Amino acid sequence: MAFPGPSADAVVIGGGVIGLSIAWRAALRGLSVTVLDPAPGRGASHAAAGMLTPVSELQYGEESLLRLNMASADRYPAFAAELADASGLPSGYRACGTLAVALDADDRAVLKDLHAYQERLGLASTWLTSRECRRLEPMLSPAVSGGLHVEADHQVDNRRLVAALLAACERAGVTLVRARAAALLTDADRATGVRLDDGTELAAGQVVLAAGCWSNAVEGLPPGTLPPVRPVKGEILRLRVPEVFAPFLSRNVRGVVKGGSMYLVPREDGELVVGATEHELGYDTEVTAGGVYELLRDAHELVPGITELPLVETHAGLRPGTPDNAPVIGAAELPGLVLATGHYRHGVLLTPVTADAVAELLAEGTVPEVVRPWGPGRFTAAPRDAATRPGTPSGPGDTHQDRSQGPDQEPHKEVSYA
Ligand SMILES: Cc1cc2nc3c(=O)[nH]c(=O)nc-3n(C[C@H](O)[C@H](O)[C@H](O)COP(=O)(O)OP(=O)(O)OC[C@H]3O[C@@H](n4cnc5c(N)ncnc54)[C@H](O)[C@@H]3O)c2cc1C
Repeated sequence: MAFPGPSADAVVIGGGVIGLSIAWRAALRGLSVTVLDPAPGRGASHAAAGMLTPVSELQYGEESLLRLNMASADRYPAFAAELADASGLPSGYRACGTLAVALDADDRAVLKDLHAYQERLGLASTWLTSRECRRLEPMLSPAVSGGLHVEADHQVDNRRLVAALLAACERAGVTLVRARAAALLTDADRATGVRLDDGTELAAGQVVLAAGCWSNAVEGLPPGTLPPVRPVKGEILRLRVPEVFAPFLSRNVRGVVKGGSMYLVPREDGELVVGATEHELGYDTEVTAGGVYELLRDAHELVPGITELPLVETHAGLRPGTPDNAPVIGAAELPGLVLATGHYRHGVLLTPVTADAVAELLAEGTVPEVVRPWGPGRFTAAPRDAATRPGTPSGPGDTHQDRSQGPDQEPHKEVSYA
C-alpha cells in the first residue's frame, strides 16, 4: 500500500487528555508520534470538572475500578510536576481534599452507607458533624446535616492540563495534525495507518484509538474490535468568585441533595465549577434551562451565597461510556491497534495511569498489571458471573431517577457524580 503522507511509529486518533498524554509519554520513550484531532482538547476534556476523587466517588461493586482509580490518583503529583516542568506551564493540579455533605436525613443515610463501605475497604475518610463541616467550609448552609472529609481526594484544572499537555507534546516532538481520522487502514492482518477526511493516508507502526465517545465512528475497525462507546451528556457551569468573597470554598464540595447529587470545584484562580447533569441523549450538547436550573437550585441549597457570584459559562460535554462504564485500555485483537477510550466519568483522573500503560505497550509491548483487567478482551471473553466482572455497574446508591424525565419515558440511568 502506498502512503503519500508522513509516517510515524505511532499515530494517535484523538487529542483529548487521553490521546495527548499518551502521545507525550510515548514520545518521551523515543517513539515518533503523530496526534490527529480537528479540535484538540475541546471534547469531554474541556467540559470536565477535573475532580480526582476516587474515594469520594466510590460506588458499590466497583472495587476493581477503584484499584485503577487509586493507582492513577497516586501518580498525579509526580505526573503533574513532570508535566509542568516539561511544558513550562502550570499543570492545574491542586491538592485540596474533598468534603461530601448531606442535607436531610435520607441524604445523610446515603453518605453514612458510603462511609461504612469506604471503611470496609480500608479507605481514609472521616465523618464530620454539621458544625465541623461548616468550620471547614463556612459558606455551607446551616441545613447541612453532616459530611465525609476525604483529605486525599484532589482536583486538577482540566483546561490547564490540556494546555500543558499540548505544550509538552510540542516540546517532545509530537506532530499535531488538525484533521479528522476517517478510517483505520489495515492490510491482511494488522493496522497499518490512518486515512484522513481529505484522503491523505498516514502510515503508522501502531495506531492508538483515543477518540472518546466518537471512537466507534472511525471506519475500518474490524467488527467486535471495540465495544459500543456511547456519549453521556453532562451540563456544567463555571462561575467566578470575586476577590471580596474569596476564598468562597477551599476544597471540592460534593453534595447529596434530596437523593440527587452534585459538586462544586473551586479553582485557585477564582473559578468555581458546578456540575453536572447526566443524560443519555445521543450527541446532543445543547445546554438546557432545566439543566442550569437544576444545578443552581441544588448548589444554592448547599451554599446559599452562590447566587451572588457571576455565572460566566454554561457548557455541555459528552462522557465516553462503555457497557460496563469502565475504560478500555490495551491491545486490540487486530495487531498494531491499541485502544484507550471509554473513560466515562473518570478520564481526567485516569490520565496518568492510562498514558503510562499505553506508552509502555507501544514501546515495550507489555502492559502494567493494574490495567490488565481493563483490556477489550473482557467484552469478548465467555460470560462470567456479573458480580465477578471488573467494573460491574454499581449497585444501590449510585443512581437516581432523572428529575426532568416525563412519566411516559423509559427511566434512564443517572449516575450520581461527575
Ligand atoms: C460534565 C463533565 C464532567 C466531568 N468531570 C470529570 C471529573 O471531575 N473527573 C474526571 O476524571 N473526569 C470527568 N469527566 C470525564 C472526562 O472528561 C472524560 O472521561 C475524559 O475527558 C475523556 O477524555 P478523552 O481524551 O478520552 O475524550 P475527549 O476529551 O472527548 O477527546 C476525544 C477527542 O477525540 C477527537 N476526535 C473524535 N473523533 C475523531 C476522529 N475521527 N479523528 C480525530 N480526532 C477525533 C475529538 O475532537 C476530541 O478532542 C467529566 C466529563 C463531563 C462531560
